[in-house]
Amino acid sequence: MSGQMPQVVIDLDALRHNLGVARARAPASRLMAVIKANGYGHGMRRVAQALGEADALAVARVGEGAQLRDAGIAARIVVLEGGFDAQDVAEAAGRGLDLVFHHEEQIALLAAARPARPTRAWLKVDTGMHRLGFQVEAAPAAHARLVALARGNAPVGLMTHFASADDPGDPATREQLDAFRPLAARLGVPVSISNSAGLLGCPEAHGDWVRPGLMLYGASPFLGGRAAALGLRPVMTLRSRLIAVNHYRRGERVGYGGTYTCPEDMPVGVVAVGYGDGYPRHAPSGTPVLVGGVRVPLVGRVSMDMISVDLRGAPGARLGDPAVLWGEGLPVEEVAECAGTIPYQLTCAVTGRVAVVERGAERPPLDAGR
Ligand SMILES: *Cc1c(COP(=O)(O)O)cnc(C)c1O
Repeated sequence: MSGQMPQVVIDLDALRHNLGVARARAPASRLMAVIKANGYGHGMRRVAQALGEADALAVARVGEGAQLRDAGIAARIVVLEGGFDAQDVAEAAGRGLDLVFHHEEQIALLAAARPARPTRAWLKVDTGMHRLGFQVEAAPAAHARLVALARGNAPVGLMTHFASADDPGDPATREQLDAFRPLAARLGVPVSISNSAGLLGCPEAHGDWVRPGLMLYGASPFLGGRAAALGLRPVMTLRSRLIAVNHYRRGERVGYGGTYTCPEDMPVGVVAVGYGDGYPRHAPSGTPVLVGGVRVPLVGRVSMDMISVDLRGAPGARLGDPAVLWGEGLPVEEVAECAGTIPYQLTCAVTGRVAVVERGAERPPLDAGR
């Protein structure tokens, strides 16, 4: 293991493999790869370039789409939250971004902007998530307004989003589908329903376009799920090394607040990674860490730049040994569960001071934009 530590290894072959899994699971649908929030922390530009096989890319905000255009990405790009103001709408139109319309006000902005070129529009309907979207009854009128504004040039798609697809037993997903179907039949436009969980768990919800995010990065979208069981490979590995091996006596306490007390004389290691790198501060004692390929438990509080680990299970551990915090050999889902969060948050949270190493790149590493 070489280079500045900690570092994230971004495995672009794994990313492309996972795209293939998504394709195979939804073979009749087109696929927009969701790369918002800096590609879930993997680097938006690099992920966009590696996912050239996707039919479209999806981001949350116009600014993200503009960054992709600036980076020379010519792919179709869908802006999932649509434009927030007149400037956003003008920019999206000028740069050829698909806009999602979830609110009357956004349609008014498009009407006022009168863009020179037709804008591809998606109408977002709320079928039960109760976050963004027109109510189902209001959707036909909003659709008609958008068709008129697009001057017949641009296809208008219909989109909705699941609230509880991460739990395949939750009846809410079926209720959302039941609410969506008659509207989709009435409007007769391309539809997009499924995130990763819907794509993997609800084949009847594939529709014309699927919208996977998390699964592309090699994590399971299901509660208690593991990527390997779905044939997915982790894209991000966060790793560092052991920078101290110390020996403490029974009863001695470790770290800020002394929250961990050694139950016997024992070796305690220090790994150079902390919440300043994006490792979750709330990961409790017992959260697994791989040291030299051996699973050992974190002990005491997570510091800004360091964590401590119980090395009783790895008596051969030496200074400089590699440590994996999540990724290859240690599922990010498991670390997220220990820390009371979800894999999305862990990969998004990796900070700018962590070095990035690309694997499987077809091009030389990019200088910026992780
Ligand atoms: C983020 C997002 C997705 C992707 O969800 P995953 O759970 O990461 O697959 C799909 N659709 C919308 C509207 C989103 O905001």
